[in-house]
Amino acid sequence: DPSYHKPARSEAFKRLTKDDLAYFKTIMPSETVLATAQVGGTADAIELEGFNADWLNKYRGDSQLVLRPKTTEQVSQILQYCSTHRIAVVPQGGNTGLVGGSVPVHDEVVLSLRNMSKIRSYDELSGILVCDAGCVLEELGNYVGERGHVMPLDLGAKGSCHIGGNVAANAGGIRFLRYGSLHGSVLGLEVVLADGTVLDNLSTLRKDNTGYDLKQLFIGSEGTLGVVTGVSVATPQKPSAVNVAVLGVPTYECVQRAFKLARKRCGEVLSAYEFWDANCMGAVLRHHELKSPLGAEFPFYVLIETSGSNKEHDDEKLGALLEELMEEGIAEDGALAQDDSQIARMWSMREGIPESLGKTGPTYKYDVSIPIPVLYDIVGDIARRLETAGLYKPGDATRPVKLVCGYGHIGDGNLHLNVVAERFEDRVTEIFEPYVYEWVASHRGSISAEHGVGLMKRDYLRYSKSPEMIAYMKRVKDLFDPNHILNPYKVV
Ligand code: FAD
Repeated sequence: DPSYHKPARSEAFKRLTKDDLAYFKTIMPSETVLATAQVGGTADAIELEGFNADWLNKYRGDSQLVLRPKTTEQVSQILQYCSTHRIAVVPQGGNTGLVGGSVPVHDEVVLSLRNMSKIRSYDELSGILVCDAGCVLEELGNYVGERGHVMPLDLGAKGSCHIGGNVAANAGGIRFLRYGSLHGSVLGLEVVLADGTVLDNLSTLRKDNTGYDLKQLFIGSEGTLGVVTGVSVATPQKPSAVNVAVLGVPTYECVQRAFKLARKRCGEVLSAYEFWDANCMGAVLRHHELKSPLGAEFPFYVLIETSGSNKEHDDEKLGALLEELMEEGIAEDGALAQDDSQIARMWSMREGIPESLGKTGPTYKYDVSIPIPVLYDIVGDIARRLETAGLYKPGDATRPVKLVCGYGHIGDGNLHLNVVAERFEDRVTEIFEPYVYEWVASHRGSISAEHGVGLMKRDYLRYSKSPEMIAYMKRVKDLFDPNHILNPYKVV
């Protein structure tokens, strides 16, 4: 039984037949088509498992056919056929999404972009990269890194996620504070619409005010409006000096005071300001065999990164900031990375949190935007609700909930509230939903800061969008995908 609400299969969608499979085999090489015996193929269900189950192992579909096209033309032919025959399709990138959006709900065809991973062009002067949607983010980072640039986004899933998936999810991540949203750094997109039309908007221009900026609609559309096949993105100059420090902080109030001071003292070079609590730290040290750079345990930890062009200048500024934070009692301990390997270890403490929580147990994830002053209050509220219901007691491993914790991108007002349980089950889910969404709405926050809506939050959209907004979103969906074949049951 799924531990989430699975909408009923829409009978408007065709059930696949052997004829459909035979058609797909005429337009693409047979090794790019993965089909089970149920639809006339030879693949084992296990071979499709990685496409049917999500990263959290929470959402699971029952697709019998995975198509992995190599060209935009093939994507176009696939969608044209699917549109004509009312075959539902789930576009899939690296399948690291966290809201159940990247896997089928029922028997939708999975359209995986992983065979489209070529760099199309790179201009070393402007730093503008044009590539296929299936390029893995980390590989792009390495490519532009060798040419003196960085990708404008970075996140813990970089080793698997695709740039097309990042665009479709409008991923935020740890460089958001410095380089802003993909709505700013993506310059152009090539998108195949539901009827197979190729929308070539793969511009490399920074400025182009010739009417409506259609590409913005696809950024964050989670595969519901079109399939992104190509991306043009501006990559910033690689900073020549990077410094990282980790602080031990006594209270959440001090986390905020430290942020204010960091902006005041290091504003022009501040590139990340992340925080996590003691429960996150416990999990990450346990599962990643890492040693804390600090001499003791603290209720909160902060990671500050500066990126600039003059190491001496940045060293001096960050050193002075750390001294001031300690003198004022805002931080009780601090460690400054001395070399690249220490920088990497400090970052892996922060970036390793999702994976280490996943290794601790099935994890409920709530990714919300809330005004910074009250951002952490919800973690305590949820812990108390679970305790009152008898489901959680800190340190008591016999309860259904093992851990309640919070971490996130403080600089962006974005909290990740995570609850690790023994299993996904209704009595636990009912504690959070809709409570978390009501809580967020009462502070005029967002029920999804960066992970999107997917299947997980589609029934709760009203907590962040007015009825008029939702009505217009549905009209946009109808316009681009009148038969609703693209990523059905998700978002709107
Ligand atoms: P998928 O998971 O495959 O798909 C995501 C959505 O986009 C789905 O709805 C899918 O249908 C659609 N889609 C995928 N490719 C295309 C395409 N080419 N065309 C149209 N639609 C498409 N997110 C953040 O914002 N910030 C973080 O810091 C962050 N950290 C993470 C850390 C970890 C360890 C993990 C597992 C996830 C994290 N995420 C984070 C979630 C994040 O959304 C994804 O990691 C990433 O952006 C999704 O890329 P993907 O290629 O895996 O897409």
